[in-house]
This record gives sequence, C-alpha cells and structure tokens, in this order.
Amino acid sequence: MLTVFPIPAFQDNYIWALHNDRFAILVDPGDPSPCIGYLSTRKLALVAILTTHHHADHTGGNLELATRYHPRIIGPAIENIPAITEKVTGGDTVFISELGLHFQVIATPGHTLGHISYYGANRLFCGDTLFACGCGRLFEGTPEMMHASLQSLALLPDSTEIFCAHEYTLSNIRFAKTVDADNAALLDREIFEKAKRHQRLSTLPSTLALEKATNPFLRCHENALDQAAERYLKHRPRNTVETFAALREMKNHFQ
Ligand code: ZN
Ligand code: FE
Repeated sequence: MLTVFPIPAFQDNYIWALHNDRFAILVDPGDPSPCIGYLSTRKLALVAILTTHHHADHTGGNLELATRYHPRIIGPAIENIPAITEKVTGGDTVFISELGLHFQVIATPGHTLGHISYYGANRLFCGDTLFACGCGRLFEGTPEMMHASLQSLALLPDSTEIFCAHEYTLSNIRFAKTVDADNAALLDREIFEKAKRHQRLSTLPSTLALEKATNPFLRCHENALDQAAERYLKHRPRNTVETFAALREMKNHFQ
C-alpha cells in the first residue's frame, strides 16, 4: 500500500512523501525538520529525494537529509541541486525499486530553465510548473517555454492526479474568475475547494481533467480567455502563446 502525504512546510509549501510501511521518497524537501519528524514517527527509511528545481524552498533540506539518511538525490542535470547524486533530463526514467515505482522525467522549463516534473503510477509531481487552477511565475524562462511545458503536461491522461508544491488554489481561483467568469466548472470548484480549506485540508491532489476544465493557463485556446487577453492587451492576441503571456502578466499584477 502506497501512501502519498503532503508534509506542510513554510507558509504554503507541500513536501510530498510517498511511502509504504518501510521506505519513503520525498519530493522537494525544502525544510528538513518536518520531514525528519514525519519519517521518524513512522520509522521510515528515506531512499530517494526527487527534486523539480533549484529554488531553496524545494531543496533546502537536501544536505541535512543526505547526511542523515544517504538517499539517492535525483534532480535536473542543468541546475545546481545540493547533494545531487543522479542528474536527469526530460525523457529519462527513474526507478525506485524499494517502492516498485517508475517515474518518467518530463522537461517543464519556464519557472526555472531546468525545471522537471515526475510522472508515474498515474501521478504527476510538477513542482512550481502546473498549480491547481494556476501556474508558476516565469522567473527564468519565456512564456513560449512555459506554455509548451503546460501543453506537454496536458497530454497526460485526464485521470492523472496532480501534486504541485504549493497551496495556492483559492487565490488562483480568485484570479481565474476574473478572466473566465462564466465557467460553471470553475464556480463549482471554488465551492468545494473552499470547503476543503475550511476543514484545513489540502486542496491537492487535483486531476488533469479538473485542471483542463478550470485552469486558465490550460485554457488559452478558449474564447473567454482569448477575450480576457484581448481586453488587457487592447488588441487581438495573435496566438495562444500571446494569450498565455497576457494571462500570466495579469496574474502577476493581481492582488
Ligand atoms: Zn520555485
Ligand atoms: Fe516554490
């Protein structure tokens, strides 16, 4: 039996722990202490760390966890990842024998240039690329890159469960409503995600089907989003990348 648990860290990060009753994987352990707490209460051996990108809130725990548990530390080849032992790129596969899990590595540049996502057993660990009802900021990459990354994630099966690294869902929905106001699936989503947060539950995982129905950054080809971009740009977007870029910029200025 595989458990997938969100270890809360900092303000709004989730460190995903995947484990059976003996072995564990952590995805993006930015803070070592809640991880050590989680592993030691359950007497789990940390066998691997999967890293999506170099930001400190995703890698800050690597050194201390490496010293304590000596796990494999897997991460993007072209970024500086503390204590990395295996450098991977898009198209590679990662096998974690202790849990019998295979992950496909998908290149998802945009938030950072080397950002990667891990897909396995119908689950996607996408760091700061695809968020529930949103997407990551473009710190290093271009809108073209991020748009292409999101498009490649959108090719996964609709049933794929989405595990991103931050609890941004409600504020993402607030923004989405300003650009996709008549989307009934989005309005429904607001109700059930708010209910989860009132019970202090994580809104994650989401599914790719739900993201395709409600996430403005996966819906740039839809008329409503195209028109929202047009209102902002004051001209018709020439293509979906321009729509995406306009939406991302609007989100940057959204309070
Ligand atoms: Zn980040
Ligand atoms: Fe982050």
